[in-house]
This record gives sequence, structure tokens and C-alpha cells, in this order.
Amino acid sequence: MSEAKSCSSCSSDSCSTQTKRPDESMEEFQERQVLAYRMGQIKHKIMVLSGKGGVGKSTVAVNLAVSLGLAGKKVGLLDVDIHGPSIPTMLKLDKSSIRTGPSRPGGADAIYPVTIGDNIKVISIAFFLQSDAQAVIWRGPLKMGAIKQFLKDVEWGELDYLIIDSPPGTGDEPLSVCQLIEDTDGSIIVTTPQKVSISDVKRSINFCHVLNLPVLGILENMSGFVCPECGKQVDIFKSGGGEELAKAFGIRFLGRIPLDPQIVESCDDGKPYVYHYARTETAKAFGRVIVPLLEMDGKKGEVAGDQSPVASSQSPVPKNKEDGKIRIAMPVAGGQLCMHFGHSEEFALFDVEDSQVKGKQMLTPPPHAPGVLPKWLHEQGANIIIAGGMGSRAQNLFEQHGVHVVIGAPGHTPEEVVTAYLNGTLETGRNVCDH
Ligand code: ADP
Repeated sequence: MSEAKSCSSCSSDSCSTQTKRPDESMEEFQERQVLAYRMGQIKHKIMVLSGKGGVGKSTVAVNLAVSLGLAGKKVGLLDVDIHGPSIPTMLKLDKSSIRTGPSRPGGADAIYPVTIGDNIKVISIAFFLQSDAQAVIWRGPLKMGAIKQFLKDVEWGELDYLIIDSPPGTGDEPLSVCQLIEDTDGSIIVTTPQKVSISDVKRSINFCHVLNLPVLGILENMSGFVCPECGKQVDIFKSGGGEELAKAFGIRFLGRIPLDPQIVESCDDGKPYVYHYARTETAKAFGRVIVPLLEMDGKKGEVAGDQSPVASSQSPVPKNKEDGKIRIAMPVAGGQLCMHFGHSEEFALFDVEDSQVKGKQMLTPPPHAPGVLPKWLHEQGANIIIAGGMGSRAQNLFEQHGVHVVIGAPGHTPEEVVTAYLNGTLETGRNVCDH
């Protein structure tokens, strides 16, 4: 493979993807660069998880992807459910549509996803299995290798969202995805309303917490049955399990999708439900689930590689401390705001009272690892972070800790940046390193 640029949003030599790690071979280094390049072209990566099988996780993944596509977004759908890949059936796709050919970076052969309409691209592990029996013998490293290939060697191109359908549970596949994509935005956990599902969902929530993967929300599927004859709703599985759990864990409840016989039919016939039954209440319920995903996109910049600025002015300074005091953090390298959050030498923390800087502290951060800095800065009392660039996963983690994020700040001294911020004159541009 010839030399690749790590990611189209960043040209800095100080970025970690530009530097070979001492413990990796040249081949591993180049693979990491290609992976960073591919993932840098995708704005949001969202995993769909469930504690157990049969709750409708793949159905939800398909219908979320198609709903986002219908909303005009560029969407990828990746099926890594190695032991039960059902997405090709649900979308009536087969492996004969898969093409390979030269691609960026480096002109090496890549796999081209199957496209649906203009803006939905799909890859399923089922396209590459010789037989159903083959997957049964796959173990951790082999699965990790296959998933890495789907992320690295698939020509996804620029996408607004990549929806990843993982197998049920908390096994190798979701773990591999989290390890390979450092800036996964978060997960959507699908469950059914029965109370017996609660322990499965708790396991999924714990799994996300351990991996510092934000939980974007819980979705209750098969929640109530609307009788096609009389229109009356019957709660076959009782109800409330998912919603109660969301409340208990302070997680957003994304709503309920009813048990609907037409969903089974549409899955079996390979017709995406939200497209073919767009006017139904069930399709509207799917439409409500994508609202937070669309909001997330509104908050963020252009697809990496687009040179247009995201914003040229800042949002108002939040007054999120009752006593009028705020603590502003900034990554610093060489005495200036460091463009790459996560690779800074130190952090400047400014204590501000009534819009006046009252004190400054320089702190050395703990070693860089996914999810560490948002927690650490929260512990240092920061409630605003100003950075040049930051991955979406870190942004989500900061927001979850109640730390307001400002990105796209220029590489000036921390004093200049904080003064401009407090005066409302800070010019923010593109998120310079979105991975
Ligand atoms: P999982 O990915 O969790 O194993 P699937 O998405 O494959 O589950 O769904 C399992 C079965 O349940 C499929 O036959 C699908 O058509 C059906 N199903 C999923 N959601 C619903 C629903 N809301 N109403 C009716 N059937 C559903």
C-alpha cells in the first residue's frame, strides 16, 4: 500500500496518526492511517446494541438507516452480526452486488458497498461468508480482523452517519468496533418492554460505561400491539421496562415501536418498513427516534474534508454555575492553544468570575486514552472546554459531564483565546482534527 494521508481533516505532523508507534510494524502503522482516513470521512458512528437476540435490533438498525436516508443524510449501514447477519434479507441484497476496485487512499483495491437509492450504502458480513457454518468457528482475533477490514477496506466515502448493527450481547464484535473507532458517538440500546429484559439492558449499559461509550438512548421495541381489526392497543408484553430503566440510569428514552405484523412482513420481503409504510404511526415512531441523531448532526461541523467553516461566531458564554463563576479549560502545547485535543502537553484552567479572569492554573493531563480527559477535566472543576479540534465521542462525553464544548478555536495563546471568548469575539472555524 502506498503512503496514505491519515485523515482528510487534518494535515498536522503532530497528530498521532502521522507518527508510527514504537510497538507497531510498518504494515500496522499504514493500516492505522488508512483506517483513520476512512473514519475521518464519516461524521457520526452509532452502534445499535441489545442485551439479547430477537428484540428487533437489526430491524431497528435498518429502519434508522433508511429514515436517516429519507431525511437526506448520507448513511452507511454495517452489519457485523457475524452469527446472524439478517440485514441482506431485510433489504433484499445479495453478495453479487459487491464490487471491488481501486480507491483512495493509495489506489489499493477496496470493497464498494451495495447502494440503495443515492445515499444509503450497505455492507454485511453475510456477503463474505462462504456458508452459515463458517461464522460459528470464528473466534475473537478473526472477528476483529474481519471488522477491521470492513472499516478500513470498504470505500464508504463521505458519510453523515454510519449505523453499526452488532450481534446481541457484549462480545467481541461491539468491543472490536469500539477499539477500532475511537470516536464512536455512542450506542442505541434496543430492548423489549418486559421486566425480564432489564438485566440484559443493564449489562449493555455497563459495557458502554466500561468502554466510555456514551449511551445515546434506549428504544423500546415490540411495545404494545395495535389490533389491525379494531385499532385497540394491547400491551402484550406488559410495558414500561425500557422507559423505567432509561429514567433510572438518566438515559434518554427514545420511544416505543409497537409490535406490528407489517414489520415482520416487510423484513421477510426485504422492503424497508419506513419507506413502504411511511404514513403509519409505526413509521412516525421511527421518525421520532432519529430526532436526537439529527440534532447531533446540527451541532457538528461539515463532513471531514469540506473546507467550509462550521461557524464564524461563538454561542453565548453559558452561565452554568449559580454563583456566576466558571472554569474554562484549554489544551496547550508550546504556549499556544493546541489544535489537537488529546495530544496537548498541558491544560490551562482559567477561573472566571463575572466575566473576569481571576486566576489561572497549568495542569499536566493523565496519559491519553479514550475517554480519560473528559472525566479528568470534569474532576478539575472545568465547565467549559475550548479546543481547536476534538472527536465527536469526546464531545459527547464532555456534554455528559456537563462540560460545554467550544471547538474550532484558533491557535493563539490561552490568554488571548479566553479574553476573546469572554468578550464574545472568539472566531471559531472548522473542527480541525475530527478523529
Ligand atoms: P435481533 O436483531 O434483535 O435479533 P431482528 O431485528 O432480527 O432481531 O428481529 C427479529 C424478528 O422480530 C424479525 O422477524 C422481525 O421482523 C421481528 N420484529 C422486529 N421488530 C418488530 C416489531 N416492532 N413488530 C413486529 N415484528 C418485529
